[in-house]
Formats: sequence, C-alpha cells, structure tokens
Amino acid sequence: MEDSYKHRGMRKALIRILTEKGIDDHRVLQAINNVPRHFFFEKAFLEHAYQDKAFPIGEGQTISQPYTVAFQTQQLQIQPGERILEIGTGSGYQACVLLEMGAEVHTIEYNKVLFLKTKRFLPKMGYTPQFYYGDGSKGIPTQAPFDKIIVTAGAPTVPASLIKQLKRNGILIIPVGNNKKQKMVKLTKASENKLIKKAFDNFSFVPLLGEEGWG
Ligand code: SAM
Repeated sequence: MEDSYKHRGMRKALIRILTEKGIDDHRVLQAINNVPRHFFFEKAFLEHAYQDKAFPIGEGQTISQPYTVAFQTQQLQIQPGERILEIGTGSGYQACVLLEMGAEVHTIEYNKVLFLKTKRFLPKMGYTPQFYYGDGSKGIPTQAPFDKIIVTAGAPTVPASLIKQLKRNGILIIPVGNNKKQKMVKLTKASENKLIKKAFDNFSFVPLLGEEGWG
C-alpha cells in the first residue's frame, strides 16, 4: 500500500481536527502525522482512516479514535528512550505513535488472533515494539518497572499490579468506569505510597478483560 500525497493531505486535515479539539503537544501531533493510519484499514474502508472515529478491526475490537490516541499519548508526556507498557495492542496503531515519539514500547494483547496478526503486520511497516501475548491487566512483571503505562481498554478499577510496576514519578493513563463509558484517569506515582490522581472527561472503550479487569 502506498502513502500518497492524498493520504498525507488527509492526515494534515486530521491533525487540524485534533488541534481544534485541544491537542497541543507538537510532538504528539507530529507522531500522528508520521503514521499512515490507512495502512490499518481494508481497502474497502479506506475513506474511514482519517476520520476522527474508532473503527472495527475484527474480533469485536476497535482501532481507537485518533483523538483518544492523541489525548492519552499527550497525558503520558513521553520522552525518547522511556520504557512504555501498552495494554491492548489491538491493531498496533497506538504502539506506532509511541514508537514515533522515540519510546521503547512493550505491548500486550489478550486476543490471540489480534496478537498474531499485529505481530506479523507491524514490522512490515517498519515498526518493532516488543510484543507479548497474555493478560495485560496484571502488567508484565518480568519486564517491570516502566516509566509510563497506557491502558487502551476500559477497566472497572485501577489494577494494583499496574501501579506496582510503575517507576517513581511514572504515569499511568487508564479509562475507568463501566462497560459503556469510562472516565480517563491519570495517576502519577509521586512515591511508593503516594499517587496523584487527575480525572478527565468520559471516553468509551471496549472492556479490559482478565484477572484485574472484568474477568
Ligand atoms: N491500542 C489499540 C490500537 O491502537 O488499535 C486499540 C485497543 S482496543 C480499543 C482494546 C484492546 O485491548 C483489544 O484488542 C482487546 O483485545 C485488548 N484487551 C482487552 N483486555 C485485555 C487484557 N487483559 N490484556 C491485554 N489486552 C487486552
């Protein structure tokens, strides 16, 4: 698939929409501008690639809305070289955005079909995060600690394992709520027993499954 002049123009238009919606971190916008989102879409659905909306990717899952990706990424304040854990690899789009920001990305997916598909597909685009298959609600203890953790599925509560696997001054961004809507929550680990919490608007994610998710 090619990344044509037309696709790049559509991406620029998407960046304008994200800016109007309040995304102002230039590095986040640049990263989104660098990832050809249409590569994640079947040919028949290409015109949906640069609309600001989530889209089905099979297995009852979705590629997140660009605004959501931008919002969560902006809250993480990613610095090059940081170790990031992403829970919910899905299509791999969010992982690509994190890689574009120079992060070392560890991404875990619970659905085997999506895990295998994305693990095969992303390197073809030149993106090589570390892929893991399993229940990310428990984090990845063998790879911890992480500078930042991003959860891209809706959780009933904040999993204790994720807080534990965060470095001091690390940031966790996670949607918390019921299976229809969730509040975006940002936790900063000021010290081993002090968390600074900030809650944002409602978002709508597919549920976080697994032991520390919905089961
Ligand atoms: N970040 C993805 C992207 O860029 O396309 C979108 C993720 S999609 C909204 C949520 C993903 O979380 C789904 O692929 C789902 O299978 C996965 N998921 C749900 N529970 C999980 C768990 N406990 N561990 C890892 N992945 C999980």
